[in-house]
Amino acid sequence: MSATQSFWSVPLREGEPAYWVCMSCLSEVFHGKVPMPDCPTCQGVSTYEAFTLEAIHDWGTEDLIAKAGVAQQQASHESAPAASVESAD
Ligand SMILES: [Zn+2]
Repeated sequence: MSATQSFWSVPLREGEPAYWVCMSCLSEVFHGKVPMPDCPTCQGVSTYEAFTLEAIHDWGTEDLIAKAGVAQQQASHESAPAASVESAD
């Protein structure tokens, strides 16, 4: 996929939920960031709210839970310090 999606980076705070779910379509979830300028699935603006992974497992659809798992894996890969993700060419 070559589509470029931009994100707002959301600082992770200890004790606060880090998973951002689109409350409009409930089919997108990201860890520590939200897509900009709008949701890639439903084009909703400011529709994202933060939840814990536990909460998503509690009420999320199977698809949403699966995406949360992917987001969790990506987050652990991106945890390297000073990662400037600028690959525009
Ligand atoms: Zn959405």
